[in-house]
Amino acid sequence: MTIIQSATGPLDTADMGFTLMHEHVMVLWPPMYQQYPELFDRPGLMANAITKLKAAVAAGVKTMVDLTPIDLGRDPGFIQEAAQKSGMQIIVPTGLYYARPFYFLGRPDSAMTDLFIKDITEGISTTGVRANVIKCATEPEMDAINERVLRASARAHRATGVPICTHTHPATRTGLDQQRVFKDEGCDLGRIVIGHSDDSSDINYLDEIIQNGSFCGMDRIGLPQPRTDEQRVDMVTALVERGYANRITLSHDASCHLDMLAPELLDQWTDKWNFTHIPLDIVPMLKERGVSDANIHQMTVLNPRRIFEMNQPY
Ligand SMILES: [Zn+2]
Repeated sequence: MTIIQSATGPLDTADMGFTLMHEHVMVLWPPMYQQYPELFDRPGLMANAITKLKAAVAAGVKTMVDLTPIDLGRDPGFIQEAAQKSGMQIIVPTGLYYARPFYFLGRPDSAMTDLFIKDITEGISTTGVRANVIKCATEPEMDAINERVLRASARAHRATGVPICTHTHPATRTGLDQQRVFKDEGCDLGRIVIGHSDDSSDINYLDEIIQNGSFCGMDRIGLPQPRTDEQRVDMVTALVERGYANRITLSHDASCHLDMLAPELLDQWTDKWNFTHIPLDIVPMLKERGVSDANIHQMTVLNPRRIFEMNQPY
């Protein structure tokens, strides 16, 4: 039995069930709400989050991995309340986005590593909520500060055993750059998910990521750019046909609230880009293309469970 930490407390991995590996309860730009608190309608956002999470639960999703980095408004108290009131099991992250993390520019790498480790082992600030996954991101290219973040993430991963799930920019093949840094830090690449891989049109790039040992996060399904659903599903099918079902995870990278987009634009984008799209629409599309029930179960249930069960520090 493996026990991990969720927003609402300990979670037996046997109870994870159908798991979306890369989603967000809320993505926002914290300076706006610090300077203009009137822009942050917490009760409204909470009601919206509960509605969307309940819809996902009703569609069969049992667990969701929230990968919102510290600098995009990760809010453990908000996630915890949304999880409690919706019934969704949510795993909370630590880690940083690809933007230059101002606070850490003139501090040692250990300041980052220690913060991530504290989030995982003791809890985030005074909330008591413990992170159980590390997020990091590389876009458009890896620069010196981003490499520092990746190395700090790798060290926190090895110290705690919790998995790393990344954001990449496949057009510049940054998944391979991340793997090089993680390998240099002594990481087992088999415990790392290289995310946003379904933004790629290059199966050889994805094959290389998998051959290097990592999971391919096919985790932007429903997002209309830069690939259509048909293209994303065709790529998942092609990888399954190569025998890689045990190296793929499926998700949307959707959020209950995303303040990057004006509401009317968000409405356009979220037509299919929401938490119910994979269970309700994408699973049937995969079956039409001949992907077996066993392989779908592997990608949506068994792989997430296995990723979180490899939880020994090393
Ligand atoms: Zn994301």
